[in-house]
Amino acid sequence: MPRAFVADPPCAMCGRPSSHVELVAPGAKPADWQRWPPQRRDAYDTARQRHGDQQWWLLFSGVVAGNGHGQPVDLAQATRIASAFAEPYRYTLVRTAGFYDDAGFCGPCDAPYCQQHWNVSSSGYGTCPRGHGKSLDALSWPDDL
Ligand SMILES: [Zn+2]
Ligand SMILES: [Zn+2]
Repeated sequence: MPRAFVADPPCAMCGRPSSHVELVAPGAKPADWQRWPPQRRDAYDTARQRHGDQQWWLLFSGVVAGNGHGQPVDLAQATRIASAFAEPYRYTLVRTAGFYDDAGFCGPCDAPYCQQHWNVSSSGYGTCPRGHGKSLDALSWPDDL
């Protein structure tokens, strides 16, 4: 069985989260539920009920885009994502989750950066503080989930 988890990999430059990845178990609520405003809770419940409550659920906010109130993932996907975010976070593992921006990780640096430190251009191309570039284009989301 996969495990529910929350991952907020801290930007290597400023410590702000590069992204937010949360895997919610079937029938469970997100970790921050008590702090969510009622509107957001309603929207989440509605989205989740559309898929039945017995699915694993993925919440993802990437460097420039995310999946809103989340999406259902099957057991195999949930297992893959949970093992991709085993701590300490490493790029080679994180990338196996298949997120469009690898949760903000730069491959050559093996470190995550926030939107500011990716210096994201209007076309969605990011350049890390050490000069490595990659596309953070959200259009490819969710490419291989
Ligand atoms: Zn930063
Ligand atoms: Zn880099």
